[in-house]
Amino acid sequence: MDLGIKGKRALVCASSKGLGRGCAEALAEAGVNLVLNARGAEALEATADDIRSRFGVGVQTVAADITTEDGRAEVLAAAGELDILVNNAGGPPPGLWSDWGREDFIAALDSNMLTPIALMTELMPKMADKGWGRVVNITSQSVKAPIPQLGLSNAARTGLTGYVAGTARQVAPFGVIVNNLLPGAHDTDRIRTLDANTARSQNTTAEEARAARFETIPARRYGTSEEFGAMCAFLCSQHAGYIVGQNILLDGGGINATI
Ligand code: NAP
Repeated sequence: MDLGIKGKRALVCASSKGLGRGCAEALAEAGVNLVLNARGAEALEATADDIRSRFGVGVQTVAADITTEDGRAEVLAAAGELDILVNNAGGPPPGLWSDWGREDFIAALDSNMLTPIALMTELMPKMADKGWGRVVNITSQSVKAPIPQLGLSNAARTGLTGYVAGTARQVAPFGVIVNNLLPGAHDTDRIRTLDANTARSQNTTAEEARAARFETIPARRYGTSEEFGAMCAFLCSQHAGYIVGQNILLDGGGINATI
């Protein structure tokens, strides 16, 4: 399918690895020129080189922490005019509800709620002026069903979801389409860290923790970054103009719900 976005320009935040990288690759395959971001320059440059050589699109890199005001300013200054924004950042650490104080919540809100809001606030007016824009926020299945050990994520991402629900409908009249993608378990560094934590707390191995988790997912496996990226690229495509403010779950059927 031709996604109709060849030659557009996208900022994909937190994209040297994992789900962000999957989104970047799928957009590149559709002919979109990219601005990639991550904190670590080495992995970022390696990813950019790989994408340039495989897809022949323009790829600019900005090594910066997207969750800081300075980092965002650096990324936005380098990026210039953009048609597509994919919001992403690392997830908050796991723990118990009784572990966290105000500072932990402020950090989680900064990373996973206020950073995507700041980038949308900055970029959507320019998209609206042009009459076309696409925003995809990578959130989590935790907005549909809370994950007990990820209380910081549950809280911050649900806040972002409420914001998007209201805002997406205010920018849609101007051709700016905003949606959220909700990953369930995907095979990335992040899930490997969570499996290792589970293994430690249950006195088992990471492989056993992973196998036990597969049993809870009807698809009996983790999702891939490629599958995730393909859905992201579709939401950024010309065909997605009537999908407004939705929360699209990619979880192999893990959340047992009728709708
Ligand atoms: P990942 O494999 O650990 O990759 C994270 C990427 O983000 C890396 O490129 C990392 O590079 C970059 N990054 C992290 N913090 C950053 C920051 N402050 N500024 C700029 N770049 C940053 O993680 P993932 O699995 O793709 O997860 C992506 C998001 O989806 C996370 O918020 C995660 O919580 C959420 N999620 C993931 C899953 C899953 O199963 N994988 C499920 C639900 C939700 P640097 O470290 O070099 O910055």
